[in-house]
Amino acid sequence: MFIIKKADVLVIGLGAHGSSTVYNLAKNGMSVIGFDMYNPPHTMGSSHGKARIIRKSYSEGSHFVPLLNRSYELFFELQNQTNLEIIQIIGGLMIAKKGANSLEGIKHSSEVHNCEIEILTSNDIKSRWEIFNPEEEMEGVLDLMGGAVFPENVINTNLNFSKEYGAELHFNTKISKWISDDNYVTLKTETGDTYYGDKLIICSGAWLPNLLKDINLPLFIERQILFWFDPINNAEKFLPQNSPNHSWEYEDGKMIYIQPNFGDGIKAAIHHDGYEVDPDKLDRNKINLNEEKKLRTIMKSYIPDLDVDSVRSAVCMYTNTPDREFIIDFHPEYKNVLILSPCSGHGFKFSPVIGEIAFNLINNGKSKFSINSFTIERLL
Ligand SMILES: Cc1cc2nc3c(=O)[nH]c(=O)nc-3n(C[C@H](O)[C@H](O)[C@H](O)COP(=O)(O)OP(=O)(O)OC[C@H]3O[C@@H](n4cnc5c(N)ncnc54)[C@H](O)[C@@H]3O)c2cc1C
Repeated sequence: MFIIKKADVLVIGLGAHGSSTVYNLAKNGMSVIGFDMYNPPHTMGSSHGKARIIRKSYSEGSHFVPLLNRSYELFFELQNQTNLEIIQIIGGLMIAKKGANSLEGIKHSSEVHNCEIEILTSNDIKSRWEIFNPEEEMEGVLDLMGGAVFPENVINTNLNFSKEYGAELHFNTKISKWISDDNYVTLKTETGDTYYGDKLIICSGAWLPNLLKDINLPLFIERQILFWFDPINNAEKFLPQNSPNHSWEYEDGKMIYIQPNFGDGIKAAIHHDGYEVDPDKLDRNKINLNEEKKLRTIMKSYIPDLDVDSVRSAVCMYTNTPDREFIIDFHPEYKNVLILSPCSGHGFKFSPVIGEIAFNLINNGKSKFSINSFTIERLL
């Protein structure tokens, strides 16, 4: 049977941003139908691995901080409405050579937006957390609002609440084609069903290029590997009550990040060290031994207790723009098609505010947040 249905808004992709988007649309009374080709939260895209870093004093640019302020509010609001853990504040420590752009960026955001930070010498760091061993010429900046958000819990909660507000969600349903004529949008599923909507929101993560062949965005889909470790010693010092998230700039502009043990080991990764992949062909089980070796070689002088074989790994994907900003904009040709790609390896923490922005853009074409850095035009 070929189903034909109609809604105010159709949403493709129900991961971090799609689930937040359907939640915001449904909560605000819109009729919404959402589609995901897998069963979210799943491990095929960009939103798995139990914990994501959230931080406020943002090294990537102070323009992100107002968005983050709202995201924090919304994460806590969500946490108050569910039994699942959504957010935990534990602090976030960036360690780099004194004067590094990463440290100066955090200090700048803190100054502009009055975020609470502490500046620490190498010795301060060693005496506060004896598991860390920074070089003498390194400095640390501790973001007191740093913490973790829990992606699978967030996505599950968004999707459950969306359904309670009346959203219709279709899992294991791949959208193979969309057509817009400016008045309405038609979606075709892989199995031949047709859906109509007044508007369409595309948040298909690493698969965005497949659905936007007409505008040929310069996106780089990067394979990103995560490893989990059990420390040789001092296991209790790696628990979230004793350790912040910590990122180490080991070479100019190159970073590793580590999260404490939230119950499944200590998660560590090299940020932006992957090669370009096709998400439909990516082997998510294949990890080269040298990849773990490289991470361990960097980690062992800074965190000697983690110089041990990993207990687990996972493959994920970053959807990068050339300037590492996001995409939040209408399709250049179709003003009833909104495109959301807040990733570039740092987008999860924004997902609650992205859903809110999506609702406002789709409802009245405006957002109270400055989203000028996220246009499609800058990429064309
Ligand atoms: C390893 C790793 C670590 C990260 N760490 C952090 C961090 O610490 N802090 C942080 O803020 N951010 C982090 N990020 C970035 C963040 O996780 C991403 O920005 C965010 O998850 C992207 O969400 P998304 O909704 O765009 O993509 P996804 O969550 O992958 O959702 C896209 C969805 O679209 C669906 N889809 C695609 N095509 C179709 C189609 N044709 N039909 C139907 N459905 C379709 C997919 O099945 C998928 O569910 C990290 C990312 C990775 C990979």
